[in-house]
Amino acid sequence: MADRYLSFTGTAPGRLLTRRLGLPQPAVLQRWTPERPSLKGDRLLLTAGKSDLGLTDAGAGANPSAGARTALGLDLTTAPSEKPAAVVLDATGVRDVETLAEVHAALHPVVRSVADSGRVVVLGAPLDPADHHQAAVQQALEGFTRSLGKEIGRGRTVNLVRLTDAHAAESTLRFLLSPRSAYVSGQVVEVGSAPADVTAPHDPPHDPDRPLTGRTALVTGAARGIGEAVAETLARDGARVVVLDVPQAEQDARRVADRLGGSALALDITAPDAGTRIAAALPDGLDVLVHNAGITRDRRLVNMPAERWSSVLDVNLASVLRTTDALLESGTLRRGGRVVATASIAGLAGNAGQTNYGASKAGIVGLVRALAPRALAEHGVTVNAVAPGFVETKMTAAIPLFIREAGRRMNSLAQGGLPIDVAETTAWLADPGSSGVNGQVVRVCGQSLLGA
Ligand code: NAD
Repeated sequence: MADRYLSFTGTAPGRLLTRRLGLPQPAVLQRWTPERPSLKGDRLLLTAGKSDLGLTDAGAGANPSAGARTALGLDLTTAPSEKPAAVVLDATGVRDVETLAEVHAALHPVVRSVADSGRVVVLGAPLDPADHHQAAVQQALEGFTRSLGKEIGRGRTVNLVRLTDAHAAESTLRFLLSPRSAYVSGQVVEVGSAPADVTAPHDPPHDPDRPLTGRTALVTGAARGIGEAVAETLARDGARVVVLDVPQAEQDARRVADRLGGSALALDITAPDAGTRIAAALPDGLDVLVHNAGITRDRRLVNMPAERWSSVLDVNLASVLRTTDALLESGTLRRGGRVVATASIAGLAGNAGQTNYGASKAGIVGLVRALAPRALAEHGVTVNAVAPGFVETKMTAAIPLFIREAGRRMNSLAQGGLPIDVAETTAWLADPGSSGVNGQVVRVCGQSLLGA
């Protein structure tokens, strides 16, 4: 269902009328295309406090003011820029309220000049439980980031990355500073240091344009919607994809698989032996497991029969628990592997009529947080989740008009996301360079007003 309001506000009379009436002014977001793979313009590096990250002194004597390859593996400049495409503020050294003022001093003069669809990324440090002043001001960066995200406008996004090791954060920064993260705003991502032995032994040399080369990815519910976009994006990034969907959708799954040079697997993910059957279909192992299949059976609790409760819990949560356990225990998920599950903002904020769905999606958050450290320590596999907000798919096209329109606009970017936005986020989490990203729940919601 096309977003006609977005098209209307894209015209001169539409813009004039909606501005006069004080209505939302969504900007057309710049997303990744092969022709325009990156944001055009400088990436400005600013610092608040005394940072130990050493972002400006890497790169064989390079001069960062001339645009140096920094310790992040990205080109950043400290030279003034008239219209930067992105601003990275290193605030890892902010330890007290006085140095917190440097965050204001650094960003206040430049924020207006950031280009449309540009990026602001704040780098923070993990909260130090032994220093409540440091913890207070590092937590302050979260409120700062989320507030700036709500006011910055023009398709620009603001995110916070808490990191300890600049190298481990390279894939995350690359994603957040690119058009691939168009619908990710107001997020806080923690990046730890990647354990040294978590690269898969079978990995071919790293190709930044096709980071998943040589890897096998299985996407559940990939015959249509978000899952189809995830399969497409992982294939674009070099993965061999397995398109799993229910037997009734086998034809569509095959069509997607054929287009992507992958294979289809007709299987109801709630089958008790689903894990064994996936393992049997993948004798050479699996690197990326994307739990995308999901259903809604909305009713208020007072009107909800047990069957609506159990079917949603079974597809959205129980099957995810069962198959993840089976594929980790059988060793089908190899070292260096990735699990990306699908939560929802309904699981974080709650939604009337969705006690079943909200419970199932909150369950995904619990699963991710508890399993992530153990899966990494015992199997060398990271476990993360994406939490989509309002995404334009058949699922949301079925929502009644007025509720749908409200769902679309109630976020900082004043529009719905596209399946590709969830897919790009999944691809970043699946990247072999993302070993330091573990146990994270990343919302792809344009900074929805629902939930934090
Ligand atoms: P969709 O209904 O368009 O597609 C879901 C796919 O999953 C379908 O192809 C379906 O056949 C498959 N599927 C359902 N049950 C299955 C089972 N038992 N075994 C195997 N496959 C099964 O949905 P979508 O909008 O693309 O959503 C994808 C995921 O994103 C879901 O987990 C959903 O809860 C989540 N999500 C979507 C939105 C949104 O706005 N669309 C928002 C938040 C979360």
